[in-house]
Amino acid sequence: MKFDVIIIGGGLSGLTCGYALQKAGKKCLMVTSGQNVMYFSSGGFGLLSRDSDGNFVKNPFDEIGKLPASHPYSKVGDVRKYAEMIPSLMAEALTPLHGNIDSNSLMYSALGMLRPTWMALDSVTLFKPGNEKPGEKAMIANFSGYLDFNSAFIAEGLSARGTQAEIMTLDIPEISYLRRNPSEMRSVNIGRIAAKPEIARKVAEAVNCRLKGEDVVILPAVFNLEDDVAMEILRESIKARLMFLGNMPPSVPGIRSQLELLSSFERAGGTLLKGDSATRPEVFGGKVSCIHTMNLGETAIEADSYVLASGSFYSKGLTATPEKISETVFGLDTDYAQGRENWYTKDFFGKQNYLGFGVRTDEDFHPSIGGEKISNLYAIGSVLSGYNLVAEGSGAGVAMTSALKVADEIIKG
Ligand SMILES: Cc1cc2nc3c(=O)[nH]c(=O)nc-3n(C[C@H](O)[C@H](O)[C@H](O)COP(=O)(O)OP(=O)(O)OC[C@H]3O[C@@H](n4cnc5c(N)ncnc54)[C@H](O)[C@@H]3O)c2cc1C
Repeated sequence: MKFDVIIIGGGLSGLTCGYALQKAGKKCLMVTSGQNVMYFSSGGFGLLSRDSDGNFVKNPFDEIGKLPASHPYSKVGDVRKYAEMIPSLMAEALTPLHGNIDSNSLMYSALGMLRPTWMALDSVTLFKPGNEKPGEKAMIANFSGYLDFNSAFIAEGLSARGTQAEIMTLDIPEISYLRRNPSEMRSVNIGRIAAKPEIARKVAEAVNCRLKGEDVVILPAVFNLEDDVAMEILRESIKARLMFLGNMPPSVPGIRSQLELLSSFERAGGTLLKGDSATRPEVFGGKVSCIHTMNLGETAIEADSYVLASGSFYSKGLTATPEKISETVFGLDTDYAQGRENWYTKDFFGKQNYLGFGVRTDEDFHPSIGGEKISNLYAIGSVLSGYNLVAEGSGAGVAMTSALKVADEIIKG
């Protein structure tokens, strides 16, 4: 089987790259083994939220210009050009974003803390820095027995910002039914039921009955697993401004975005090998000649170009042993600090150096094996070294701009 491009990994970076290539007429195959980080997404898309001292960055493009040559953004080059493509690309994939291209905003986390972000899914409420009070009085409504939505933490977070918050319990029989087995009281199971218009109407009615002058209502972000109908009903019916807040993973809006991106890749004509893993690549003379997959066994798949978008430690794109950090599929050269004590800090909220480890590439995102450049292979997204996505808040931005830059390079030939 021969393709123009084989993409390994179907997370945000692989999907962005695959969609851009497929739209440009390249025949792409994407092999992806499992869940990706979008299952944990807050709904926020970070471009660069913090500088090297951990300070909030107001204008991400000003700060991006100051990054070292080893940072993926320096290799992307014209980050603004690719960043400006992101909102329309996401809108085409039916997951519109909002926010301001030139300045970062703030959003509330699942624990009621404020965190910076660049853009966000439509369901996420964004605040301008200095104006992050959602209202005077908030009603936080949670489903009875749903422990993954931390109403008490959220109330505490809001109170700290001057919003008085009250908590109410929603007893919706169709959802309470899930409690017959406590392990079923999870966001995705609730989401399947909460997406129904009649459930949204019941929720709106229950909330409206309890309102006593609250100007904002906060609900868990579980209503848009399949479409936005239930969210629209809630927005129209609830007699106060509505905010959806994240819960403990899995993230319903993140899963929805991932599914929409996967189907837009397929709609554009891309071939998807879902639930399969790339294994046993054959590399000769500085080029990948083919790869195998777990499910295809001895049948090799070939392409002119290959894109590695296999993610970081969570997705097993990278693995750590006591001495070293390895790239899992090709055994590519990696960057990491010598001495394991330099990999992490015991301060849980401190900067964890291991998050900056990953695949070493040249300025065109070509990796190497034993120092030899692999000319028809590119690495993109969180498998890359040179940036710390958590400390910087640059995860989605690096994933998507590196993907679009590499897609451009492949299209240009
Ligand atoms: C818990 C968590 C939450 C985050 N939340 C946010 C957020 O809210 N906002 C934000 O901006 N950034 C967030 N990030 C940063 C995130 O890393 C990036 O935003 C981005 O989603 C990473 O995408 P990716 O495609 O590089 O990797 P991943 O999403 O990890 O996708 C890699 C994919 O490759 C597949 N794969 C791996 N090996 C193989 C193989 N051999 N064969 C086939 N497939 C393979 C995996 O199964 C996976 O599907 C978060 C990171 C983490 C760890």
